[in-house]
Amino acid sequence: MSYLAHIEHVASGAYIARDATTFGERALLECRYDLAAVRRDVDRDRIAAGPASIWRYAPLLPVEDAGQAITLGEGFTPCVKTRALGLDNLWIKDEGRNPSGTFKDRAASVALSRYRELGVERFALNSTGNAAAAWALYAARAGADCLCVIPADGQPSCRAQAALSGARVYLLDDWHAAGSVIAAITRDTGRLNACALREPYRTEGKKTIGLEIAEQFGWTLPDVIVYPTGGGLGTLAIWKAFDELITLGWIPDRLPRLVITQYDGCAPIVKAFREGRDDCEPWRDIDVLAGGMKSPAPIGGRKLLELLRRTGGAAYAITAAEALAAVRELAGREGLFACPEGATTLAGLRKALSEGAIKNGERVLLVNTGTGLKSLPVMPEVRLETIDVGALAS
Ligand SMILES: *Cc1c(COP(=O)(O)O)cnc(C)c1O
Repeated sequence: MSYLAHIEHVASGAYIARDATTFGERALLECRYDLAAVRRDVDRDRIAAGPASIWRYAPLLPVEDAGQAITLGEGFTPCVKTRALGLDNLWIKDEGRNPSGTFKDRAASVALSRYRELGVERFALNSTGNAAAAWALYAARAGADCLCVIPADGQPSCRAQAALSGARVYLLDDWHAAGSVIAAITRDTGRLNACALREPYRTEGKKTIGLEIAEQFGWTLPDVIVYPTGGGLGTLAIWKAFDELITLGWIPDRLPRLVITQYDGCAPIVKAFREGRDDCEPWRDIDVLAGGMKSPAPIGGRKLLELLRRTGGAAYAITAAEALAAVRELAGREGLFACPEGATTLAGLRKALSEGAIKNGERVLLVNTGTGLKSLPVMPEVRLETIDVGALAS
C-alpha cells in the first residue's frame, strides 16, 4: 500500500484527489503523504533491507503495489569518493549506471508504475532527449503508448533509444515551441501531458536521488550538493526528499546548500539568481551542447530560485569548453566517464572554490546525471594512430 494522501497544486494550495488522472493546465503539482503513518509503520532498518533499487523507498512513493512496479533495476547508484581538485571530502553520485544511462529512468519507472495502477496508458511529452528515451523504454515495458517530441538537433543516442522502443517520436526545430506543441497534442488526443512539472509523479521518481543520498551518507546529508540544472525538476525533487526525511525524523534538520550549474548558452536561472531576481526570464538565443540542459523557460524557476536562497546556495554558468575539459579530467584522473552536463558540476565546483562559496573540508557531492556514452558525438575529438603491425614484427 502507499501512504500517498493527496496531491497539491503548490501555487494555489489547491487539493487534488490522490487518484486524479487529469491535471489540466496546472503546473508544479506535489504529492503529499501521511508521514505520521509512515513514521509509525516504517523505520530506516526496513528501508535498508529493501531491494537495491529505488523501490527500497516504496513507503515514500505513490505506487500502491511496488511488487508490480515497472522496473529495470533503476537507482541505488553509487556515491564514488574522488580526490578531484585535491579535496578531502568529495563524492560523485554516478547516475550513469541507470538502465537507459541517465537519472531520468527513476521518474519514468515511478510515474509509469503509478499510471498503470490508475489505468492511464497514453502519454505525450517533450524532452531534450534523455527523458524521452527513458519514458519510451519504460512505456514499452509497461505496454503503454508514448509520444515524444525531441529537438531536431538532439542526441542520436536518445533518438535511437526512443525510436527503437516503438514510441512515436517527432523532431521539432524551434525548441521554444515545445511546451505549446505538447499542450496542443494532449488537448486534441487525450494523452496525459507527461512534461516536467505538469503532473505529480515524475518528481516522486527523481526524489529517490535525495533519499539515496541521505541513506548513503549514513542518514545525514552532505554540506553542499552541486547539480547540473535544466528544468529544475531534479533539484526540487531532491530537496522535497530532504524535507520529508526531516519531518520523519530520519535525518537532522540541516539542509545542504544547493549549487547549480547551467550552460552559459542557456542559463536563465543562473542569470536571475546573480541579478537578485525572484523569477527568470525566458532565454532567447540557446547555444548549448546537445543533451539534457536546454530549458529556456523552466517552469520551476521561481521555486528553484527560492531554494537557492533558502539554502544559501550559488549558481554558475559553464561554457561548453569548460564542460568538455571537465569530462576529460574526470575520465583521466578518476576513471569516471561522465556526460558533459554532469561534468559541468566539476567546473562549477572549481568556480565555487575560487569564490569561496565552498571550502575544502566541507562534504561536497556532485551529481553526474548520466553516462558519457550517451554523448559521444559531442565529446572532445580524439585522434588515434593505427598501429603498424609490419613494423612491429621486423
Ligand atoms: C534532464 C537532465 C539534466 C537536467 O535535469 P533537470 O531535472 O531538468 O534540471 C541534467 N543532465 C542530464 C544528463 C539530463 O538528462
